[in-house]
Amino acid sequence: MKMKSCIAAMALLAMGMSVAAPAAAQSPDGMKLYITSSGELNLDQGWLTAMNNHGNRIDIPVPMYIIDHPEGLVVFDTGMNIAVVPDNGAEYWGPVAGAFTPTMSRDQAIDRQLQRIGKSVDDVKYVVHSHLHLDHVGNISMFPNATHVIRKAELQNAWWPERFQRAAYVMSDFESTRSLNILELTRDLDLFGDGSIELIDTKGHTKGHQSMVVRLPNSGTMILASDAAYMAENLQGTVPGIVWNVEAAMDAIERMKLIRDVEGGQIILSHSMEMYSSLKHLPEYYD
Ligand SMILES: [Zn+2]
Repeated sequence: MKMKSCIAAMALLAMGMSVAAPAAAQSPDGMKLYITSSGELNLDQGWLTAMNNHGNRIDIPVPMYIIDHPEGLVVFDTGMNIAVVPDNGAEYWGPVAGAFTPTMSRDQAIDRQLQRIGKSVDDVKYVVHSHLHLDHVGNISMFPNATHVIRKAELQNAWWPERFQRAAYVMSDFESTRSLNILELTRDLDLFGDGSIELIDTKGHTKGHQSMVVRLPNSGTMILASDAAYMAENLQGTVPGIVWNVEAAMDAIERMKLIRDVEGGQIILSHSMEMYSSLKHLPEYYD
């Protein structure tokens, strides 16, 4: 089954087909979306809302998502590496832990979060990575048996980023990627072919950033922006502070807003504590 879905996905890529039209989405009953956090980061808000509120240090969530789909369990982002737990990242992240200071307990890591809903890392079929920054890809190596879905541009960018993008990539996080089973995306993908999980190009924050559109039978369309939009201000014209390309980042936001408006959905921001606090958290879920 795993092989069959993989081949279907690759065939779609090879044919250059676009993803399913929203109207054709046939989200299966029983599909669930869990939202949780890998801990918190303390940082200057200026990193998130350029030229606005800098000098103001805030705590932000570090979101991870689990989608239980009848055809397979999906994880979207794996949070911060468990090596940051003992000393708030001082040793594992090095100096960048001063600018972005993590607070994380071992129980907040993705493997334990899966256990809380009766699953294990070995049950996961696809791990989708929005991008390979230190607060999103930390525990990729916990999933040696899954298929990892990453933009090809992001793999290349993470291994040799522009100098101004280097600080947020921790190479030890993704050193294992060369031995993993990776679907290297060069275009958008309808993951299960039913329109329920669509991976969309939202490059801008990084060169190969992607977001996930989840279409649920009852809750409707939830666009998991990841770092294509951190805070509410980013949806209103404030440039996300950390960007590879500003124009692409602003285009990505417009793309998500268009999907939101056409489908009557909502954009789930990555690092807004205000929004995170308003959501249901694992073990509760959206269906
Ligand atoms: Zn982030």
